[in-house]
Amino acid sequence: MSSVQPVESNTPRKYQLFIDGQWVDAESGKTFTTPNPATGENLAEVSEADKADIDKAVSAARRAFEGKWSKMSARDRGRILYKLSKLIEEHSSELAALETADNGKPIKESTYVDLPQVAENFEYFAGWATKIEGETIPVPGQMFNYTLREPVGVCGQIIPWNFPLLMAAWKLAPALAAGNTVVLKPAEQTPVTAMELGKLIQEAGFPEGVVNIVPGYGETAGAALAAHPGIDKIAFTGSTEVGKLIARAAAENLTKVSLELGGKAPNIVFADADMDQAVNGAMMGIFFNQGQVCCAGSRLFVEEKIKGEFLDRLIEKASRINVGDPMDKGTHMGPQVSEEQLNRIKSYVDVAQKEGATMLAGGESPQLAGAFQKGYFFQPTIFSDVNNQMRVAQEEIFGPVVSVITFRDEDDLIRQANDTIYGLSAGIWTRDITRAHRFAKEIKAGVVWINTFNMFNAASPFGGYKQSGYGREMGKHALEMYTHVKSVWVDLSGRPIGWFGK
Ligand code: NAP
Ligand code: MG
Repeated sequence: MSSVQPVESNTPRKYQLFIDGQWVDAESGKTFTTPNPATGENLAEVSEADKADIDKAVSAARRAFEGKWSKMSARDRGRILYKLSKLIEEHSSELAALETADNGKPIKESTYVDLPQVAENFEYFAGWATKIEGETIPVPGQMFNYTLREPVGVCGQIIPWNFPLLMAAWKLAPALAAGNTVVLKPAEQTPVTAMELGKLIQEAGFPEGVVNIVPGYGETAGAALAAHPGIDKIAFTGSTEVGKLIARAAAENLTKVSLELGGKAPNIVFADADMDQAVNGAMMGIFFNQGQVCCAGSRLFVEEKIKGEFLDRLIEKASRINVGDPMDKGTHMGPQVSEEQLNRIKSYVDVAQKEGATMLAGGESPQLAGAFQKGYFFQPTIFSDVNNQMRVAQEEIFGPVVSVITFRDEDDLIRQANDTIYGLSAGIWTRDITRAHRFAKEIKAGVVWINTFNMFNAASPFGGYKQSGYGREMGKHALEMYTHVKSVWVDLSGRPIGWFGK
């Protein structure tokens, strides 16, 4: 029997909190519901954690950290992580369908992008467990100096709704590989796959309390976790606004903190670019995952002299995007995650028009039939005549809305591209190799894509400059966020220290 409850199951979908290896109700007995954003119908009822449950989960994680988990060999830790990656692969079609039902992303994306990367991250970090090493340092004199890399301890992890299971994987995999224990809070909009992951975590053989999953609201459960004096590290992905609250809460206890926040990425098309590649890249930059991507190419800079042709092609291609039932394999864009996000996007469409931008496509919800009339759908939307000072060029919309800005020369371009509080990612489309690398050096962003966009791999670091946050996820750099370096000095001379006389 499958441990994952498939999306078609007729049994009412209910999830409890996962604390200390047990499935338990919230102390308050409260629950909340998560809708399917394609129809507005209830998908699941979920126990709602708040401070009392966070306290329990942090205590369980502490006991696990000091108990079985710390005594387990790195090899066994790696094997359990590897087993989890295999279980995810085995259940990937059920998990993909659940992700689509809870988040609204097209099944094509959850099946071919999210789930493979989830499994890949656990597999990649499984390999790291046995390779986290210290160093020997060539210090002078008769001294031996070496370092130990140790886990930081109990980690609080707060994740968003745009890639629910993938964000859980990005956070859990390096933390666990390094020997930490975790209290994970999924987003209220999309708790379902994290709870299913809890079942696979049990099946994989993690000792009780190593991973605790506590769905609930940000203002209660999230805030209690970030401010908890019993955690050693807090990792957060979400809005810059909440990121600042997390950093403030962490400052109170001087908890180690890493933040992966918003973005307003420049995606830049030079006149010498391969036009087909660039048009497709612009679309991938903003319409993928309904534009709900922190590194979305939401500022599309187009060289003045190709503006006409480029925009004609972009509008034509955008008009062929299928917006609709996310479970349909032919759908390119499903609904936005929630009514709140849909309204936020609509408000930015008004802002753009008031600021004098020209709407070239979209701008409203599509007319869909049947159950989907109640879904939170929005059309792919293109604004031109945007200048970089406008709110739609400076603020993160987090929807399928692109702002087209033209530029004349490279100096003007780099100044505008960097003129943002964010610095998560950037894209450039050109056949000029020197220009591409010059740009990669000059742009203030954590990730640069040259003639491509939205490329990720578990081995490659991801994270921001400026108000896009600090710390790097994935790759070996992620381990730095989840380990302490301890320096150990050993006298080899056998002689007393003579400083205060013999
Ligand atoms: P958000 O509030 O930043 O949510 C991210 C996570 O933080 C969720 O788990 C949320 O919990 C939690 N949270 C909220 N308030 C908290 C608090 N005071 N203390 C601790 N945790 C807290 O993001 P959102 O409201 O879902 O979306 C708003 C905007 O954030 C979007 O429009 C977008 O601009 C940005 N965003 C960015 C990313 C990204 O990947 N960089 C992802 C999502 C959203 P609950 O959801 O349960 O309340
Ligand atoms: Mg939902």
